[in-house]
Amino acid sequence: MRWDLPVLSENYKCSVSLDLPLQNCQPTRACRQVCYAAQGRQYFRRSIIKALAVDRLITLDPERVAHKMIDEAAGRIIRIAGSGEILPAHTDVVAYTEAYGGKWWGFTRRTDTHQRLPSLMFSFDATTPTRVVQYVRDYVPIDRRAYLRRPEDPPASMPIAVTFPVHGPLTRYTSGVPVHETDCPFDRQEVEGCSSCRRCY
Ligand code: SF4
Repeated sequence: MRWDLPVLSENYKCSVSLDLPLQNCQPTRACRQVCYAAQGRQYFRRSIIKALAVDRLITLDPERVAHKMIDEAAGRIIRIAGSGEILPAHTDVVAYTEAYGGKWWGFTRRTDTHQRLPSLMFSFDATTPTRVVQYVRDYVPIDRRAYLRRPEDPPASMPIAVTFPVHGPLTRYTSGVPVHETDCPFDRQEVEGCSSCRRCY
């Protein structure tokens, strides 16, 4: 835990992200199979240690973390969370970020986090428990719904904003996933990054 080091991480897809520990996740069966943050650079030892440290810094002083994030982002929109999940108890850091003029966007798979931050996209997949799928139907607007799709999965069972064909560094299954009109254009190599698309902002 060092305040002199950056809290944000650089991300070739979405510019800058707040990467948090995988221990904050409530993974589905599909997540366990294909989680992109459990492979590649985000699973290097130093990345894991950094995510754990940043999580503790947020607990210690969310206002100071928000100031650091805004400084480091330098006008860029911060992706929350680039790995792992933000916990409901940690959402103060987002409120401070907004209060001091920072911009953010992101995803969750946790209903308790979504209740605190309802403008997050909510990700689900073909193995998401029924009660969570019902939560998405009841409480998540269509333009905030995201669906992770493996090659063997059907399209989402409800209207959604975006489908993510599986695209981890090791689980490069995108070409095996049938094309769908809601596919993320970055994953289909149609845009160079989220800033050219902004569907999830
Ligand atoms: S749909 Fe657009 S904004 Fe969302 S993750 Fe894909 S490229 Fe980024």
